[in-house]
Amino acid sequence: MTRFIFITGGVVSSLGKGLTSAALGALLQARGFKVRLRKLDPYLNVDPGTLSPFEHGEVFVTDDGAETDLDIGHYERFTGVAARATDSTTSGRIYQSVLDKERQGRYLGETIQVIPHVTDEIKQFIAHSACETDFMLCEIGGTIGDIEGLPFYEAIRQFAQEGGFQQCIFIHVTLIPYLDFCNELKTKPTQHSVKELRSIGLTPDILVCRCPQPVPEKERSKIALFCNVRHKYVISSPDLNSVYDAPTVYAKYGLDQAVLDAFGIDTVPEANLAKWHEVSKRLSNPERSIKVAVVGKYTSLDDAYKSIHEALIHGGIANKVKVEIKWYHAENFEDKEPSEVLHDVHAVLIPGGFGKRGSEGKINVIEYVRKAKIPYFGICLGMQMAVIEIARNVLGLKTAGSEEFISEGNGKNKQLIPIVYYLKNWMQNGIQITRDQKDHKGATMRLGSYPAVLREGSLVAESYGATEVNERHRHRYEVDVSYKEQLEAEGIFFSGMSPDGQLPEILEIRDHPWFVGVQFHPELKSRPFQPHPLFASFIAAGLQRSRELNTQKNEEVIRGHKRNVDSDAY
Ligand code: GLN
Repeated sequence: MTRFIFITGGVVSSLGKGLTSAALGALLQARGFKVRLRKLDPYLNVDPGTLSPFEHGEVFVTDDGAETDLDIGHYERFTGVAARATDSTTSGRIYQSVLDKERQGRYLGETIQVIPHVTDEIKQFIAHSACETDFMLCEIGGTIGDIEGLPFYEAIRQFAQEGGFQQCIFIHVTLIPYLDFCNELKTKPTQHSVKELRSIGLTPDILVCRCPQPVPEKERSKIALFCNVRHKYVISSPDLNSVYDAPTVYAKYGLDQAVLDAFGIDTVPEANLAKWHEVSKRLSNPERSIKVAVVGKYTSLDDAYKSIHEALIHGGIANKVKVEIKWYHAENFEDKEPSEVLHDVHAVLIPGGFGKRGSEGKINVIEYVRKAKIPYFGICLGMQMAVIEIARNVLGLKTAGSEEFISEGNGKNKQLIPIVYYLKNWMQNGIQITRDQKDHKGATMRLGSYPAVLREGSLVAESYGATEVNERHRHRYEVDVSYKEQLEAEGIFFSGMSPDGQLPEILEIRDHPWFVGVQFHPELKSRPFQPHPLFASFIAAGLQRSRELNTQKNEEVIRGHKRNVDSDAY
């Protein structure tokens, strides 16, 4: 029997419902259950693919090519279960599907209404292939009280009513604010949020109370009494040192036990949390610390490069080092020497991105790290920029650029030689895909998992321990393979190619400690308990540089000391 857990949020947004859902998924897994997580977002975009990262954080891509909310990334990182396109929806997608059916005449002349047509569509989304799993966790985006969320709340109410209440529970994630001026924790906002939930027919079984500290007994009793929730189902959710402490902390405060009790399941073993203890241990006791610079465009928003941030931390876990991430705006390097800022970092990463803005800054940074032999990781646009830098400064093609930039700037960029070009035709799982630059923007990129064949003996083949890999893509432009020979003559080679040999997937420089560009997004497949091999290897290279810089510094100190002693002799 599949059991459904619905997670809603109250009081304010950004409480970490996604993280709570993901950590609960991990805890149920640790008890031996199969889990899957789904996200229902009430906004009207059909998917987040066309949303600016400044609006809604990063777009997370699944193996089967769906552009989804970043919470799906949390789900994957905590459970290791690869999400599918059918695990993420929005109001826009639900309405689009209802309206398509209406146009096809599939409602046989009925008047189309939110109830039952929209709510039925939502219920179908929730139940889709649910029988494959023991627990289906469905997180509703937004906050109770939002007008746009109402059809989702109504749908989950009906789902529980129709499916049998013993098959569904409701978890409400809420805030217990601390008021400094009276030194008190306040339960009233939670009481109001639960009242709001009840007014739309939803009764929470479990309350997860976000609070700067563990919620004391007195407040938990008060919440239980006024919200009519059993005392042991009021769970503390204090602030954490690391998000990866969430499974062990939630286990300590009894979240998974509360869920099992609420379903009346009493015959399961204790959770095996060994891997989470190990992750927490490595994060809290690093042997060293290294500095990694990320040079991008959306660096002012934490969530815009969420998976990059996490994958770097995972690389640190693999090497038992703390990774201190320094975020830099690419445009700053258009008039500033990169060496002034980057000389003492141990590694540099340029992430994916769109548009010309900041690209000249990125090119300057890449030229610097290539020559200064600082470990470099270029992801998607970061690989394309590396090829452009090398084409300009090594091959002498001074006007090398990307077709993406030529289409910008009202003809101003026409003189660029497009060594990164717009891809019009390709195969995906045996199906021919055709695109045109005039196509609309939604879901038209090369999206999802594609294979790459790696060159034996290359740095990446060594890191992966394999010569064939599958990685997730999200881009429109490709590096032109016809520069292959010219590049190889300079010791720069494509160590990963699409199986037909047409699309460069990975670029490497032989005579460099660690210079790798990848056309795909490896960060999306990194897990704290299974760091991505390229991130583990990149951080190892950063660690090596930090040791070398240290040795250099020590030698300088010794030399300085010797000089002083020598001069003393006179
Ligand atoms: N803008 C580039 C392209 O579409 C790179 C995309 C990315 O970095 N994800 O090809």
